[in-house]
Amino acid sequence: MPLVVQKYGGSSVADADAIRRVARRVVETRNAGNDVVVTVSAMGDTTDELIDLSNDVSGNDHPREMDILLTAGERISMALLAMAVRDLGVGAQSFTGPQAGVITSGSYGRARIIDVAPGRLRQTLEGGDVAIVAGFQGLNQETQDVQTLGRGGSDTTAVALAAALEADVCEIYTDVDGVFSADPRVVPAARKLDVITYEEMLDMAASGAKVLMPRCVEYARRFNVPIHVRSSFSGLEGTMVVGPTEGEEAMEQPIIAGVAHDTSEAKITVIGVPDVPGSAARLFESVARAEANIDMIVQNVSATHTGVTDISFTLPTAQVDAARAALEGDHESIGFRELVVDDSIGKISLIGAGMRSATGVSAKFFSALRDAGINIEMISTSDIRISVVTRAELVNDAVRAIHTAFGLDSSQGEAVVYGGTGR
Ligand code: ADP
Ligand code: ASP
Ligand code: MG
Repeated sequence: MPLVVQKYGGSSVADADAIRRVARRVVETRNAGNDVVVTVSAMGDTTDELIDLSNDVSGNDHPREMDILLTAGERISMALLAMAVRDLGVGAQSFTGPQAGVITSGSYGRARIIDVAPGRLRQTLEGGDVAIVAGFQGLNQETQDVQTLGRGGSDTTAVALAAALEADVCEIYTDVDGVFSADPRVVPAARKLDVITYEEMLDMAASGAKVLMPRCVEYARRFNVPIHVRSSFSGLEGTMVVGPTEGEEAMEQPIIAGVAHDTSEAKITVIGVPDVPGSAARLFESVARAEANIDMIVQNVSATHTGVTDISFTLPTAQVDAARAALEGDHESIGFRELVVDDSIGKISLIGAGMRSATGVSAKFFSALRDAGINIEMISTSDIRISVVTRAELVNDAVRAIHTAFGLDSSQGEAVVYGGTGR
């Protein structure tokens, strides 16, 4: 029997009606002759609400307790969905991440799935039932503690289950009809992509297109799991995320896949760093000890008479305090004058595998920003991506300007956002 893994995001299970609607889709898939394993996110904005609640209770960091708290959100959805499926006459059992055999490693709040032992899920399927698994969580084998996978982590749960069970497809149900050429909440004229390669999707996701978590795409690429991103509200065909060969056959490769944006990063500028060999190494070793994920880096040209320079880098806003504390702790050995944190930045990225061979892409990108009157603060590129940092309040205008300049605007009406608060 074919095996389908389905993941339903928070907006798809936001309330009782939504859960019953998802149950009908699960049952339809089962009745069409498939084995079905489902993974669910927390209802609506539950995860954010739990984070807010923890901040009201305590001003301190409690990573272990935080992870236990947040895994509760997905456990609520899994049990309710199992009830709704059973009410429709199909057997279903729900499992927490640890019960489902999801094994994690690494830090609380951003653990990695290192293995899935799918014995219990297989037994459930053999018994004719649908297995429903809480997303976003697993068990750390060394500590025997539950851990969460980082925001958006249920996407990774879905792909890891699909890989372990050798599923035929991993369907990610969300509140838009697939992967679009830009976030439909910012660009109503965004167009739905029928196919995108892992490579391009990885860069889109890593550049802020939160429709898929970057780690889920990495996992899918490693185990060659085809992902179908689609809406649980419309039932339309969505976007296939696949390896390059199928992708190239299925589409006439456009140069550009899309535009992504991210306002969740901040910029730290380290002022007055001695311009001598080893300075950057000391600085970034210090930041690495704080486990911060650095994205873009710019070093200014130093004026010869001063012998010092400024180094700016971007990182997730949530990691700023840790990075700042680490740098201040190493103040003497690095020898800088001052640290400046700027959290009002935004990043815009243009992504497309066709950039490798096309000419004039950068010229068009920068002219679009110039025509929109947008000043650029940092630039970075790879062979399939150009990213710039600007003021956060200009990001939406910049995304729309670039989307239009590259002829990506759809002529077929506005992209639909079916639910969710965009939080
Ligand atoms: P879920 O709760 O289903 O996991 P998310 O909110 O994590 O949903 O992801 C879906 C959202 O991703 C969409 O509502 C949309 O605003 C946003 N998004 C950002 N970039 C894109 C893109 N290129 N294509 C589709 N959606 C995007
Ligand atoms: N509920 C978690 C979050 O909001 C995981 C997920 O939705 O994928 O990040
Ligand atoms: Mg998500």
